[in-house]
Amino acid sequence: MNGNDKILHVLSDKALTGEPLSQEDIRFVMNVGQEEILSLLQAAYRVRYRYFGNNVRIHVLDNVESGACSEDCAYCGQSAESGNRDAVHPFKEIKAILAEAKQAYDAQAFRHCLVFSGKELGEARIENICRVVREIKERFPMQICVSAGILSEADALKLKQAGVNRYNHNLNTSSRYYGEICTTHLFEDRVRTIKNAKSVGLEICSGVIVGMGETIDDYKLMLDELRGVGADSVPVNFFIPVPGHRVRNFSLPDPVDCLKILCLFRLGLPETEIRASAGREKYLKSLNPFCLYPANSLFTKGYLTVGGESMEQTREMIEEAGFVVERVEY
Ligand code: SF4
Repeated sequence: MNGNDKILHVLSDKALTGEPLSQEDIRFVMNVGQEEILSLLQAAYRVRYRYFGNNVRIHVLDNVESGACSEDCAYCGQSAESGNRDAVHPFKEIKAILAEAKQAYDAQAFRHCLVFSGKELGEARIENICRVVREIKERFPMQICVSAGILSEADALKLKQAGVNRYNHNLNTSSRYYGEICTTHLFEDRVRTIKNAKSVGLEICSGVIVGMGETIDDYKLMLDELRGVGADSVPVNFFIPVPGHRVRNFSLPDPVDCLKILCLFRLGLPETEIRASAGREKYLKSLNPFCLYPANSLFTKGYLTVGGESMEQTREMIEEAGFVVERVEY
């Protein structure tokens, strides 16, 4: 082992004892050279294997209600400000939602994620969402995650009682940088929603989008803030410049950058489900299977307004790389 390989091994030791990464550790990981990328993957895999073995959870998104959102999140094609009319459709018919749930179940999805655009729910929408969740749960033994914006504790309880396992509400970036990507609500509003969901016993999925102009120093904040809200699951998205986006300082990562970021989140959040998310296929390219060394979870079949690889391709990749598709046990 050379000096840097030893440092990476020490970082995985540190992760295995639950010690948070320091600013220096994060800089070290992000500046790893090409000659050490395999050692970095090994360090991340050591941690991943301790908590998740070789299991991979497949997640399938259903964009149940899309677009026309009042918020101005600069990265999002569903913001009314994006002008992206192609991203707009109303709440789908129950028949269509159940057909998508069946497809996800048949493709061995561990979790089906139902996504609704907009700032917050309102009574009629929450009743509709609860009905949809009950119908899916009666038919298909999959975990259900809902993403539907700002959530009160009372609404969180209704979702929990309808059978929702997990609520998604991304922090997206650090508190320091949040004002650069959204001005219509605050970082603190997001934290409050997560607390409301957690208080009724919902698991928390809260992720980030990297490549929107944040600095390496923001990664330390993101990791600390995700720890602070107690995220059970962290989707790591790579920014995709969708039509109408208004992110000013974006940068497109190369495949090795993507692996470094995923390893950083694994080492920084050792026991958390880390999901290689939007941009996985686009940016990792032929290194796509390597994301399984840090990440224990993937999306397949696309990301809200952007397509992705097929469920069959994802399953093949997992199995050919020697990993195992994890199913829900009931
Ligand atoms: S991220 Fe959510 S809240 Fe923000 S514009 Fe998109 S749909 Fe609306």
